[in-house]
Amino acid sequence: MAASNVVFVLLICFIINSFAKRDSLYDFLFNGDYEFIDLTHPFDNQTVYWPNAQVFRFTKQIGDYDATGSWYAANDFTAGEHGGTHIDAPYHFAKTGLHVGELPLTKLIAALIIIDISSIVNDDPKFVLYKTHLDHLLYYEDKPSLLIFKFGWSKYFNDTKKYLGQNDNDNTLNFPGLSEEVVEWIISANKKVVGIGVDVASVDPGSSTNFPVHKILSTKGLYGIENVNLSRQIPETGCTALALPMKIALGTGAPLRLVAICSKQEPK
Ligand SMILES: [Zn+2]
Repeated sequence: MAASNVVFVLLICFIINSFAKRDSLYDFLFNGDYEFIDLTHPFDNQTVYWPNAQVFRFTKQIGDYDATGSWYAANDFTAGEHGGTHIDAPYHFAKTGLHVGELPLTKLIAALIIIDISSIVNDDPKFVLYKTHLDHLLYYEDKPSLLIFKFGWSKYFNDTKKYLGQNDNDNTLNFPGLSEEVVEWIISANKKVVGIGVDVASVDPGSSTNFPVHKILSTKGLYGIENVNLSRQIPETGCTALALPMKIALGTGAPLRLVAICSKQEPK
């Protein structure tokens, strides 16, 4: 074999070898530099649903040993689309918007930005977030991003009445939310925002009756995420969100498993 052929074969071997050694995504994610943070409330008989919606319920529960001594367990469940940690598809408030089953994965896997406004909210169930509250707080990424607002409400999730601020006298709900103004501003300032999430039961304040924030998100093709579980600390930037709803083909919304993958190092 000519010397040039030997060099060529060695070069090919080197290229093949370097591809074979390239870390898989799994190796990358589990190399010790990343942590996985579950931002999902469990679905059980304490899960918060919108008033009048079908709450999460096991309709059949089997869990027993048969005559041969082997265990078998299976359940059925029923639930509304809009309860617990869940996604709102654009179709929820826009007839031509995407259904849950049509949401592209390239929008459901996105850079995650947490905007912690809990100290401004200060446990006030009447609080509404306006642009002036945010002028010095907003951080954007130049990539498809999910913005999640932390109102500090996850601590009430196991007390539905408190969480929703239900007033038995006048049937009103009272929990904090976003103003139309602030959402219009965010969407026009950064076209790469693909979704907006909150740690309360609605992106609109509990007192809203015409749901303008829902309407803006839906007509602009963004998804919403409600009842995010922000009980534990999470870095405000540098995380990636996996927002993977149950693929209900024609759903207006769906239960969601929301996970953040965060670098253990401080973001630069
Ligand atoms: Zn919803």
